[in-house]
Amino acid sequence: MRNHMKIEFLSVSQNESLARISVAAFISQMNPTMDELTDIKTVVSEAVTNAIIHGYEDKPDQKVTLECSMENEQIEIIIKDNGIGMMDIEQAREPLFTSKPEWERSGMGFTIMENFMDKVEITSDEGTGTTIRLVKQLTSTRALAN
Ligand code: ATP
Ligand code: MG
Repeated sequence: MRNHMKIEFLSVSQNESLARISVAAFISQMNPTMDELTDIKTVVSEAVTNAIIHGYEDKPDQKVTLECSMENEQIEIIIKDNGIGMMDIEQAREPLFTSKPEWERSGMGFTIMENFMDKVEITSDEGTGTTIRLVKQLTSTRALAN
């Protein structure tokens, strides 16, 4: 089965739950396991939080887009901001690296995304923004039962 959706929302933290719930509703048609659903909601939260607090530095009038595609048992999630971007993507991916220790961030967002998803692609340019592409293959037996 093939499906796609795209939503755009303002960079306010209240929309983290909107993003999580939207993705959960979208993938529920794929019969995910509870673990898969929880993992995917967590990674969406991490990426959307990053867009809002790092990309837009908590400016509330900016736009985040969330795109979701499914193709057979594979889910692809794209989270995009047009914020400050990153200087060093490899450094950002390192466990415990954070540019905001004073905000009590722990630097684990990308590590969580990499643990929970099959693929994490980061495209980012300073001043232009950041796009995160997350891909996961769901367990095929349950998806086939759909
Ligand atoms: P945590 O997610 O544990 O609260 P964190 O957000 O700092 O802490 P990561 O999510 O792993 O940790 O991100 C690492 C670093 O990558 C951030 O500190 C920030 O410097 C940079 N970063 C992540 N996402 C973005 C983004 N959308 N725009 C700009 N910089 C980003
Ligand atoms: Mg983070």
